[in-house]
Amino acid sequence: MSIQIPRGTQDILPGQSDIWQLIEQKARDLCKKYQYREIRTPIFEHTELFTRSVGDSTDIVQKEMYTFEDRGERSLTLRPEGTASAVRSFVENKMFGHANQPVKLYYMGPMFRYERPQAGRYRQFVQFGVEALGSADPAIDAEVISLAVMLYRELGLKSLKVVINSLGDKDSRKAHRDALVNHFQPRIGEFCADCQNRLRTNPLRILDCKQDRDHELMETAPSILDFLNEDSREYFLKVQKYLTDLGISFEVDANLVRGLDYYYHTAFEIMSEAEGFGAITTLCGGGRYNGLVQEIGGPETPGIGFALSIERLIAALEAEKVELPIAQGIDCYLVYLGDEAKDYTVGLLHELRAAGFSAERDYLDRKIKGQFKAADRSHAKFVAVLGDDELQTNKINLKNMETGEQTEISLDSLIDKLKELLN
Ligand code: ATP
Ligand code: MG
Repeated sequence: MSIQIPRGTQDILPGQSDIWQLIEQKARDLCKKYQYREIRTPIFEHTELFTRSVGDSTDIVQKEMYTFEDRGERSLTLRPEGTASAVRSFVENKMFGHANQPVKLYYMGPMFRYERPQAGRYRQFVQFGVEALGSADPAIDAEVISLAVMLYRELGLKSLKVVINSLGDKDSRKAHRDALVNHFQPRIGEFCADCQNRLRTNPLRILDCKQDRDHELMETAPSILDFLNEDSREYFLKVQKYLTDLGISFEVDANLVRGLDYYYHTAFEIMSEAEGFGAITTLCGGGRYNGLVQEIGGPETPGIGFALSIERLIAALEAEKVELPIAQGIDCYLVYLGDEAKDYTVGLLHELRAAGFSAERDYLDRKIKGQFKAADRSHAKFVAVLGDDELQTNKINLKNMETGEQTEISLDSLIDKLKELLN
């Protein structure tokens, strides 16, 4: 039996990879404008990094990590997300001491989670994410949200919904937590086993349960927004004002929670409302966290970030039938006629490429007709035809494939001529 691709992974084939490259480039360009700089961390980390930073009680740590022991008997884990590594590196490289604050980072690369594969859910997927560390200015919250929104918008997505919430500060959260426990405790027996655990470990996450989402107690659960103290309320209002200033419309959803204990103040998600997008509509999730840098051994530092996957972004583009402007075609295809000309095109092809053109020639000994077909298939803008006779007289035939126009030019002038015509 032939060997197949592992479950939950995919090959990005030529053609599709053009789309990926375009998206990735767009993300990088945006980060440049917003002044987020790339950080590249290892694909695997000590398991402890994730159990500590993502949190023991989360789905990721409980059941989704690819954890293995290496030959030195260290427990390592393929990274399930990017924030932990970024923060580890921030601490390890003492970025908190850099003159340039806040430290604004972005990452892009594969993440690994042992999930049940379905549309929009893979075991290896690529996340693009940003982290801004060292500022507690609500303007950074708005900036981070707007960066994600701009990426989607610039790629042509229209049916977007931005949902925000505030989890408040420590005091607000504590008061809310107590109220949640009081609310769910008497009837917790009616909830799933996970929720029964959550009541003790992190009652907030009950609100995020997919199994019990229709239980009547969910709707009547105490809203975090009623527990925000003065500072938290002000902070949240500022974020909303700034988002409005940036032309980003949003909804407030008091039930939007992020799992980690470290999250506070702003939490947000961006969803696709495109028809036929499927059950999983969240494209991007993010929020503000505090205490994470300390947990990893650094000084108390506020942070905010988001993560989105390219897979779901592409699914949204497909649902909205957005055609990305993928540049097709090559500048010049070299067609040869005769043995000497054939040999000569080897060097000539190299010269064209060295001069900056995308260029190709035949490698299958095709007849001239077959070579022209190949030129068509590669969407060549120009075809240069060189026969043994032309070679003798230092000439070459240049055909503009769009207009059909043909001219004989001197072989030495090919590069200059192409430069002139392609400009
Ligand atoms: P979900 O509720 O869909 O499981 P999550 O809370 O696990 O999402 P995060 O950890 O916040 O997701 O990751 C941020 C983003 O990464 C998600 O909004 C989604 O776009 C993407 N993402 C998460 N898991 C996967 C996956 N298995 N395959 C593809 N994309 C994913
Ligand atoms: Mg998940």
